[in-house]
Amino acid sequence: MCGIVGYVGKDEALPKLTKGLKTLEYRGYDSAGVAVLQNKEIYVVKDKGRIANLEELLKHEHIKGNIGIAHTRWATHGVPSKENAHPHMDDEKRFAVVHNGIIENYLELKDFLIDKGYTFKSQTDTEVIPLLLNYYYKKEKDVLKALGKTLQDLKGSYAILVISPLLGKTILAAKKNSPLVIGKNESGIFAASDIPALISYTNEFYFLEDGDVALLNDTITFYNDEFKPIKKKSKKIDWDMEATNKNGYEDYMLKEIMEQPEALKNTLNGIIGKKIEFLNFSLDKDYLDSITNIHIVACGTAMHAGLSGKYAIEKLCRIPVTVSVASEFRYQDPIINAKTLCIFISQSGETADTIAALKLARDKGAVTLAITNVFESSITREAKYTIYTHAGPEIAVASTKAYTSQVGILVALTLYIKEIRDGHSKESDKLKEELINLPKLMDVVLADKDIYKDYAKRMYKVRDLFYIGRGNDYNIAMEGSLKLKEISYIHSEAYPAGELKHGPIALIEDGTFVFGIATDAKVEEKTLSNLEEVKARGANIVLVADKEEAKDMDIIKIPKVNPILAPILAVIPLQFIAYYIAKEKGLDVDMPRNLAKSVTVE
Ligand code: GLU
Repeated sequence: MCGIVGYVGKDEALPKLTKGLKTLEYRGYDSAGVAVLQNKEIYVVKDKGRIANLEELLKHEHIKGNIGIAHTRWATHGVPSKENAHPHMDDEKRFAVVHNGIIENYLELKDFLIDKGYTFKSQTDTEVIPLLLNYYYKKEKDVLKALGKTLQDLKGSYAILVISPLLGKTILAAKKNSPLVIGKNESGIFAASDIPALISYTNEFYFLEDGDVALLNDTITFYNDEFKPIKKKSKKIDWDMEATNKNGYEDYMLKEIMEQPEALKNTLNGIIGKKIEFLNFSLDKDYLDSITNIHIVACGTAMHAGLSGKYAIEKLCRIPVTVSVASEFRYQDPIINAKTLCIFISQSGETADTIAALKLARDKGAVTLAITNVFESSITREAKYTIYTHAGPEIAVASTKAYTSQVGILVALTLYIKEIRDGHSKESDKLKEELINLPKLMDVVLADKDIYKDYAKRMYKVRDLFYIGRGNDYNIAMEGSLKLKEISYIHSEAYPAGELKHGPIALIEDGTFVFGIATDAKVEEKTLSNLEEVKARGANIVLVADKEEAKDMDIIKIPKVNPILAPILAVIPLQFIAYYIAKEKGLDVDMPRNLAKSVTVE
């Protein structure tokens, strides 16, 4: 979601800004723009559409300067358009601003500014920022004071970069509830929404905390939310740039589906031995005996992984687990306290709703544990503990390898809790062995990709697709259905298999495709009966199961494993089918419309 890049230094700013934006492209956006300071004047070029379009426009502009800011916008307020694209400026061209986030009280601020005689050119919430800067600058005659006053007025979330002829060769940076990192090398100083945008320039980063402000020129000066200068230490990040290439695959999504066995292996590496041990995370028996419940909070695919985590924890540890969608959690007055272990799952570690939920849980006294794939991401600085999945950079918007790694780590965590509370058992040792062996079985499922492609060819023209299952199979059904919606734009629903006849079966027509997931022997017969019911009403059934055949149904066979682990195998054919359907339809699978990779606004 939205990318911000800034550069001040010895070199031309534009190439660095556009290169940075391209690296952030995967986050999802609808418009792009830059502002460069040239001869004490700000030049802005922006439009809706792709970065390639912006580059085309820039070819005709001949802008030069070694200080600039740039933005890819994911519209929250106002349609994607040239006027709404960032950077935004005041009429006197004193301040150019790029912003990631949402100014929640922008209507109130807009009224205030209109009252003071200001006019607005865009429908965005962002435009209040340069106008407020202008307003306060006229009063205070000091840019830093104007920034301080402006930030005090803003409610909501922001990562902003500001350039101004009043400042000369300086970028102002500020952040609250939206990500911003700063990096430095011999050429100059950079700011960006995330590390990949800067990793080709430096591997040393400074991370701003909420409320922090930074002044970037020849050096970096940090201030806290009271504008007192503070010192910050940089952190070295070892990031393998190779891992962000497509490696010969047509799309990132295909590459990431294929990488799943390796991602799971890396995630579990070093964790599972005779004992289960996590790096920098441990809970003792007294604490684990004292907790009354566990609350898992996440969004989208990570929430589906969380549901399978609930299944595992409740089955093995008999601790009640609630799973909440992060955007709902804060508003449902959650019943949590010091006896609740709260787990927050976010691939990017920047998901605004999940981070906000974590802060609430922390305030209520719960122990907070983050599960994320991105080193040093915002969530890791908010949570008491962090466990990393080591899936490697996930670039495609539709999450695949992060999901299977999240389910894997949640099963490892379940075994960890179980062994501390109840000691070793044959059951947990067997599950451990199965978990370690899983990457090999994933390879077996991946090898059938041509079969999945054939299914996609049969289905890509359908209007609707349904997925059903019981227990953990229903969790898999939800993830399969979400993958399809995300990248193929086909309407799809997942239902608990037994729930169909309470309404949704009315949607089944002659020729409707229904996926049945049946990996748990305990409920398999029941799910098969439900599939018979839809078949009797004309549906075409595809069963994903660990058996050889089923009467009058197409079957995708996966290896037999403990149902706790089944999502990690059964999701793979569903990921492939979504992928190949989108390819058949000629769609951009890596950057589906309207979606963003890291959802940094609430
Ligand atoms: N809320 C701002 C807008 O709609 C910024 C959105 C973003 O983070 O890209 O323009």
